Amino acid sequence: MKKTIQDIVDWHNKRVLVREDFNVPQDEHGNITNDTRIRETLPTLKYLVERGARVIVVSHLGRPKGKVDAKYSLAPIAERLKKLMAPTPVLYIDKVFSPEVQAAADTLKPGSILLLENVRFEPGEESNDRQFAQNLASLAEIYVNDAFGAAHRAHASTEGVAHFMPVKVAGLLMAKEIAALSSITVKPEKPYTAIIGGSKVSTKITVLEHLLDVVDNLVIGGGMLYTFLKAQGIDVGKSLVEDAHFETARQLLDKAAEKNVLIYLASDTVIADAFQAEANKKVVLVTDIPPDWMGLDIGPDSIEHIKQMIRNSKTVLWNGPLGVFEFPAFANGTRAVAEAIAEWTEAGFCKSILGGGDTVAAIEQLGISPERYTHVSTGGGASLEFLEGRSLPGITVLDNALAPAH
Ligand code: AMP
Repeated sequence: MKKTIQDIVDWHNKRVLVREDFNVPQDEHGNITNDTRIRETLPTLKYLVERGARVIVVSHLGRPKGKVDAKYSLAPIAERLKKLMAPTPVLYIDKVFSPEVQAAADTLKPGSILLLENVRFEPGEESNDRQFAQNLASLAEIYVNDAFGAAHRAHASTEGVAHFMPVKVAGLLMAKEIAALSSITVKPEKPYTAIIGGSKVSTKITVLEHLLDVVDNLVIGGGMLYTFLKAQGIDVGKSLVEDAHFETARQLLDKAAEKNVLIYLASDTVIADAFQAEANKKVVLVTDIPPDWMGLDIGPDSIEHIKQMIRNSKTVLWNGPLGVFEFPAFANGTRAVAEAIAEWTEAGFCKSILGGGDTVAAIEQLGISPERYTHVSTGGGASLEFLEGRSLPGITVLDNALAPAH
């Protein structure tokens, strides 16, 4: 258990360095196309402002690779934050660390916010440079890490800085993510079904292996499905296949059998004659994919089967789309599963956790509200690493809460 901002009693006049994850999507003109990530930080920022803290906020945006690049400036984020935090004063400086920043931090009024420029404009951020971390630390006396989405990276603002701070705690968003994800890694309510999709087996091997230790049922969908099918000698035509991972797929199937985990691979699939939105399509059994066709979605019988599995579960984890949801003709599997999990959660029959950037993108595109699930993780890579059982440097470095007395 990590300490959170709620474990600190007196915030008044304290200088606090808060690492947020404002890595929002933008259009080609720099307009924010979805501000969920900013909105998710408001509880932490408001909590601190209301208690009279002097709040200095840092974040990354995109991958400017240690150089100033106007495209990745936090200026548009500052504008949005001002609107969302009004009437709290939000000052923005287009520098990460400079005499101007130090002066602004020194004179910052209690209950106000100072937002600095993109930390990744500094070469020392991603290399976790000691001096840069120390410079950041000199701005404040308490460090708050609220950037779950960046917690799997040991960068200066997510990890290095904490070594120079006497007090380092989790923000409310970080704490919410840790609590939700821990609830399905440590003693999840059973039966527990994990539904894992997405394009590649290679990026999900470790999480699949780890899940086999805790779940009762594992549904494999998306592009990964076809590698699992082909590994068992089924012809999958031109479907996405990772030849290098047949052995991995077979080992995972063997481990599942050993652990008594039911693995469900789709029985039917929607195939296309090209990887295109307007391609010709038809539904076939997974064993009947013609040589020139490719599977781009799960079929109706598989959808029914997976819905049934959801209805038999008390815990559902969903990570990765079940088909090429970006093409409406191949979004049915993803939509049906998203709806079924939402309905079962709303009925109070299961706890549902969604993770991974593409899962969030999928429900957004399908117009399904994240509110309908128990928890939708804001961290793609970070949530996967958490579920893999790895320790995330941005979390490990925070102060431990006292163990409850027995
Ligand atoms: P990931 O980032 O690994 O979670 O993968 C997400 C991507 O997987 C999405 O862009 C989907 O379009 C893609 N995907 C899902 N199903 C398939 C499929 N059957 N063939 C190819 N790509 C797929």
